[in-house]
Amino acid sequence: MTQRVKCAECDNMILPQTAADNDGLCAQCVKISPELRAEKREYERQLAEGLVFTPSPAERANSKLPPELANGQWQLQPEYYAERNFESAMDAIIAAKTESGGNVFLVTDDGGQLNLGFTDRYGVCEYQNQDTGDFRYAYTKSNLREQVPEELHVVQACPCCGVGMLWYPSRYHMPRDRAFSLLENAVSGCESPGVEWLETDDFSYTEHGRG
Ligand SMILES: [Zn+2]
Repeated sequence: MTQRVKCAECDNMILPQTAADNDGLCAQCVKISPELRAEKREYERQLAEGLVFTPSPAERANSKLPPELANGQWQLQPEYYAERNFESAMDAIIAAKTESGGNVFLVTDDGGQLNLGFTDRYGVCEYQNQDTGDFRYAYTKSNLREQVPEELHVVQACPCCGVGMLWYPSRYHMPRDRAFSLLENAVSGCESPGVEWLETDDFSYTEHGRG
């Protein structure tokens, strides 16, 4: 019996020969570039130290209120609502409030998108404008500062079809009532006090109930 050894990067147990051939790495890790492996390692460190549960200084420094949130004419996302019969954005918000989980997707004529994802207890609000390259999430003092439980985790969904894509980081989560009132304010053309719009980072390392 050959004694297996741990991969230098992950928890895989590998044969000594594999380790010798691949600089200590398993067959999966050797396929990943050193840069990406370093990035993943850095993410794991930040997760272990709890740093991912609050906005980074860089996120904080780039806080900005997208003008459309104060004066935008928010309407229903046409594809998502094609077969849902709502008269207005406000109708869709009111209906969503009765659900235990789901989404509200609004758009402006200027390319703005306001996406709400919510579960029983939390909501995540994202603002995106492909034309201006602005991608932001709403941060308040009541956003989560700890791991969101798996069953309450909000998934980023595709605004066209509602299919889930990535898991939002815990720090993006705010109490769902707060998230809904943010949308109601946007639709009514009112600012939401105490909301910072922080630039979204790459959050592809966030997993369901982890990060
Ligand atoms: Zn490995």
